[in-house]
Amino acid sequence: MQDGADVVIVGGGVMGCASALELAKAGAKVIVLERSVPGAEASSAAAGILGAQVETAEGDSGFELARQSRARYPGWSEQLKSATGIDIGYRLTGILRVAFDEEAKAHIVREIAWQQKAGLSVETIEQGKLHALEPKLDPKTMFALLFPDDGQVDPPRLLRALYIAASQAGAVFRSGAYVRAVAAEAGAVRGVVLEDGSRVAADRIVLAAGSWSTLVEGIPLEPAAVRPARGQMVELETREPALKRVVFGPRCYLVPREDGRILVGSTLEFVGYRREVTAGAIRDLLAAAIELVPSLSDAMLGRTWSNFRPYSDRGKPLIGASELHGLILATGHHRNGILLAPITAEIVCALVRGEKPPVDVATYATSSHMKKAEKVS
Ligand SMILES: Cc1cc2nc3c(=O)[nH]c(=O)nc-3n(C[C@H](O)[C@H](O)[C@H](O)COP(=O)(O)OP(=O)(O)OC[C@H]3O[C@@H](n4cnc5c(N)ncnc54)[C@H](O)[C@@H]3O)c2cc1C
Repeated sequence: MQDGADVVIVGGGVMGCASALELAKAGAKVIVLERSVPGAEASSAAAGILGAQVETAEGDSGFELARQSRARYPGWSEQLKSATGIDIGYRLTGILRVAFDEEAKAHIVREIAWQQKAGLSVETIEQGKLHALEPKLDPKTMFALLFPDDGQVDPPRLLRALYIAASQAGAVFRSGAYVRAVAAEAGAVRGVVLEDGSRVAADRIVLAAGSWSTLVEGIPLEPAAVRPARGQMVELETREPALKRVVFGPRCYLVPREDGRILVGSTLEFVGYRREVTAGAIRDLLAAAIELVPSLSDAMLGRTWSNFRPYSDRGKPLIGASELHGLILATGHHRNGILLAPITAEIVCALVRGEKPPVDVATYATSSHMKKAEKVS
């Protein structure tokens, strides 16, 4: 093996960068191997909604993780600002979920009844108050739920801040480093093999390769354990901010930035790694956005993009130790990876250091989807 580290992290998305920061702060020698550049994929494409509550159904096993991660954002934002000077765009504005008719109102009220019973903050907003809060919403929107503890962050800024803060703390990033395989002997990791055959030694590997996680040879995961779920987005620009809060409508969500941009998202498609932005998706997103805020028909059309959420069909991410000793999983966060990054990084750090993680991760890295590790030499 060539050069080495205490921990090698495969992938420099939000999971890789956040884990690198946490581990480097704890004094570990960390190398992040990123085939492209840090933040190249899903993490910079995300809308940045910190929606622990807005779409959470009763019994969702990921809720506690989401709630705990959301609670870490104010501190994370402060810490990253003081380390790097970058404002990651964390705003606790609350999120509105709106209804156009009685049937939709009944549906969303039913869906969150459990949250009210559990004592979580949810406000019911009738039409008059709704239009006072957000005057540009279509007058036909007649009801909303406000989740005051949900918020938003600006993912490209978050990724830049995490990368800089982790580097300052001593983590080493290698861009353009494609990890072909995890090398193992006697059931334990020994390092990774890069595309050119060179190796990096480590007895702890963190798999944070997002939608590409199962393509790394030698890992004990079935190919279908994490699959790409394409999401397309379109950005609009308005002279004055059209909304103060993130709004979830029946067919899209709108994420307002302070500079007048509004992100409209998003599709959820299983089309492999096809990166296209399609005419039909953009047409549907624009129609849904204008249905919610009619004045958006005068907005300037900005960028469009797509990327891949790492979808885990277990309905929860894969976080924790794997059956291959020394290999820690931090993948499969699907639609909530930005929200779940702070808590995931803490869990990864604790597991690498042999400490008790802040939440019980027994259910997040169960042996389902795992296969026997293959020896890669
Ligand atoms: C359109 C869209 C909107 C979203 N909106 C939100 C939102 O509002 N809120 C939220 O919480 N989440 C959102 N998400 C989900 C969130 O973006 C993801 O869950 C999260 O970014 C996953 O982070 P990651 O680090 O696992 O993956 P990624 O960011 O994809 O990073 C994985 C990295 O690994 C690298 N890599 C892969 N294979 C290898 C290899 N073999 N060797 C070296 N490097 C490798 C890749 O180049 C990539 O940089 C959204 C996603 C999309 C696509």
